[in-house]
Amino acid sequence: EAILDVATLRKDFPILDQVVNDEALVYLDNAATTQKPQAVLDVLNHYYHHDNANVHRGVHTLAERATQAYEAAREKVRRFIQAKETAEVIFTRGTTTSLNWIAQSYGEAFIKEGDEIVISYMEHHANVIPWQQLAKRKKAVLKYIPLTEEGFLDMQAAQAMITDKTAIVAIAHVSNVLGVINPVAELAKLAHAHQAIMVVDGAQSVPHMKIDVQALDCDFYAFSGHKMCGPTGIGVLYGKRKYLEQMEPVEFGGEMIDFVHLYDSTWKELPWKFEAGTPNIAGAIALGAAIDYLETIGMEKIHQYEQSLVAYVLPQLQAIEGLTIYGPKDPKEHTGVIAFNFEGIHPHDVATALDMEGVAVRAGHHCAQPLIQYLDVQATARASFYFYNTKAEADRFIAALHATKEFFQNGTI
Ligand code: PMP
Repeated sequence: EAILDVATLRKDFPILDQVVNDEALVYLDNAATTQKPQAVLDVLNHYYHHDNANVHRGVHTLAERATQAYEAAREKVRRFIQAKETAEVIFTRGTTTSLNWIAQSYGEAFIKEGDEIVISYMEHHANVIPWQQLAKRKKAVLKYIPLTEEGFLDMQAAQAMITDKTAIVAIAHVSNVLGVINPVAELAKLAHAHQAIMVVDGAQSVPHMKIDVQALDCDFYAFSGHKMCGPTGIGVLYGKRKYLEQMEPVEFGGEMIDFVHLYDSTWKELPWKFEAGTPNIAGAIALGAAIDYLETIGMEKIHQYEQSLVAYVLPQLQAIEGLTIYGPKDPKEHTGVIAFNFEGIHPHDVATALDMEGVAVRAGHHCAQPLIQYLDVQATARASFYFYNTKAEADRFIAALHATKEFFQNGTI
């Protein structure tokens, strides 16, 4: 029996049903952003049609409805990632904002000269630059965990690198280039054994697998709505209460204050002290709808189905001569993100040729320049699958790759 009824699920995504360059669209750029199901579009529409008002302020009916829906979305997020309480769920613009806030606020309060911040060579720029800047401000030391040949974190090196000097370990749960799943629970144990905190970039994990922040025992977890069927401009910063309470807000203004005196002010309690100004109310509510949608399918099933797609695609890619795949060779170790290069063909040309066949993939450095340098390449092409992609689409992708290779090698299709 099929793991998912993908044909039925695809009907929920009107955007997938279109023709691009005379070919049916095959959307394989899900690591950049995912498409939105009708249920999420409907919720956005309904909110602006019926409930739109500012939150936490008004006593009128619409304001109460908007506030209730906004806070209900927070509870959905809490349950989805198994946070202990909604006080630990802060709405942000996305992963980038969440990680920046940790670096700025936690970093400001707790990082001292000579402290070490440990990241890895596979981090997205959003989990590199905030730490670089913090290290510069505080004269702290930034360290990179090296990778094994297949693109796993070198855990032996990590064990040696994480010491009593370490203050922060910040690692992606899933790489947006290599498609590996990193052992963040193990890293959290290592970090905690040395009184360091564990920060997890969950941009590529939360959309694809069941996440339990308490089981992982991470101290902060960041992710984006738009990579999990939600809208852009909304994301989440999860943090343990004991840290969030000791942290100063990053932004100040309306919504986040308790009392404002002329020369001093006090903040609301968690999570609102971090949410200055009018938040992305519609975005948060629609993220809640995206979570409902994903939970109806089931995160275990989504993960299982994506693994089955990878098990189908990866060997076929591995069989193409002149094609290098970055990341694990074993499909079981590889998520739906597959970065690759054709010998002698620039990845931008590969992506352009695939687009001519209706297949949308990405090419470039994928906001991971330290990794691209580490791999010693200029750029890569990247296909990234989601639960609504089919085997037939995988076949189209493989066929388009063969045609591309043929074209560049022999000048004919
Ligand atoms: N981290 C990783 C691993 C990502 O893949 C991304 C998005 N490409 C980000 C962080 C940043 O997410 P956003 O642009 O939504 O803030």
